[in-house]
Amino acid sequence: MDCIFCKIVNKEVPAEIYYEDDHAIAFLDMNPANVGHTLVIPKKHFETIDKMNKIELDKLSEAILKISKGIMGIADGMNIVQNNKEVAGQAVPHVHFHLVPRYKGDGYSLGWKREKRVTKEENDDFLKKLKEVKI
Ligand code: AMP
Ligand code: ZN
Repeated sequence: MDCIFCKIVNKEVPAEIYYEDDHAIAFLDMNPANVGHTLVIPKKHFETIDKMNKIELDKLSEAILKISKGIMGIADGMNIVQNNKEVAGQAVPHVHFHLVPRYKGDGYSLGWKREKRVTKEENDDFLKKLKEVKI
């Protein structure tokens, strides 16, 4: 499969992998938003998080928790971001969690603009649709 993250998992493409277990790896983002910006990914290929099952996500969570403890032992805080599909900013279609260490005064801003007004009707419609989706 022509997936850059699968190639990193298989050591076909170099990356700064600093954590590895049977199910996950963690490595430094090559275009970091901040010092220590880490990507935690499952070894198995899933395009988006909804394609995973509970056991697979549990296993990935273990790695995310370990890396989180490491980062929080060094940095002042951390953002965790996980994008699904291009519309949400996903550039690499292999599930990954961004763990971005934050340092006091780093001046880095991350967040959504809340300029779009969401009406109660729109949210009601969302909740109605959710009932029709099997979850
Ligand atoms: P996303 O936009 O959520 O899909 O994020 C993809 C991230 O993967 C970006 O932050 C990239 O800088 C990072 N990235 C892409 N290719 C590599 C690579 N070969 N090694 C390390 N990081 C990568
Ligand atoms: Zn992959």
